[in-house]
Amino acid sequence: GGFRGFSSRGELRLDGVKDIVAVASGKGGVGKSTTAVNLAVALAHMCQLKVGLLDADIYGPSVPTMMQIHEKPDVTEDKKMVPIEMYAVKCMSMGLLVEKDAPIVWRGPMVMKALEKLTRGVHWGNLDILVVDMPPGTGDTQISMTRRLQLSGVLIVSTPQDVALIDARRGARMFANVQVPILGIIENMSYFKCPHCGEPSFIFGKGGTQKTANEMGLECIAEIPLQGDIRESSDEGFPIVLSAPNSAVSRAYGDLAHKV
Ligand code: ADP
Repeated sequence: GGFRGFSSRGELRLDGVKDIVAVASGKGGVGKSTTAVNLAVALAHMCQLKVGLLDADIYGPSVPTMMQIHEKPDVTEDKKMVPIEMYAVKCMSMGLLVEKDAPIVWRGPMVMKALEKLTRGVHWGNLDILVVDMPPGTGDTQISMTRRLQLSGVLIVSTPQDVALIDARRGARMFANVQVPILGIIENMSYFKCPHCGEPSFIFGKGGTQKTANEMGLECIAEIPLQGDIRESSDEGFPIVLSAPNSAVSRAYGDLAHKV
């Protein structure tokens, strides 16, 4: 894809990993994890790349559910973890390391320790691309994570809603400040297509993402509709790009993967 090969000034290089692309959002619940998971699977299946997926959303890890991973990772003699391969994607998530439902209070230094464990503490092997599902928001955690990882670029997920876009704008500025190239904005929940008459409804507004992108000199590189089967397949741990590979949505994720 056209965007690969950029590099930021992050400190953390991972041996054998060619590119690290983050999926970020200004706020939670906009579909960041759904995007990261489907992008990773599309990169593996539609672009035939060697792909890793790092769930760095330590506050609400959802990759284990979305990728149907239940087992704990093996630890090798050198105390590194073996990522769990699912749907041809090597996955690692904080959710695999802590007990389910256990409350986790993350302070700055602990966040960095956890990130260290999830990145350098993992036998990623040779990867063409590592997709990182970032924690939502643009606080200290996200900034230091961004500084620690040598990111090739970041994708920002937003809904067309004003509040989400304001947060996305804040996020975009944060990444620009730390010199990570923004590959584009992904508009999620763009519209809802009536299953009866096929008419699209713009539930969260229309045109806002494009406008924000234009204002910031960014590209809106994908529009993903609000669709019941996207949520269902996420909940079932069988991403839509695999459960309905020929659907329009899966093609949209495929296009996105090719652009990245
Ligand atoms: P985030 O990572 O931003 O917190 P998630 O990816 O976890 O958001 O998505 C939040 C919820 O919305 C999940 O239940 C997910 O299945 C659902 N969801 C995300 N994108 C879509 C979409 N385009 N259509 C329908 N449901 C979606």
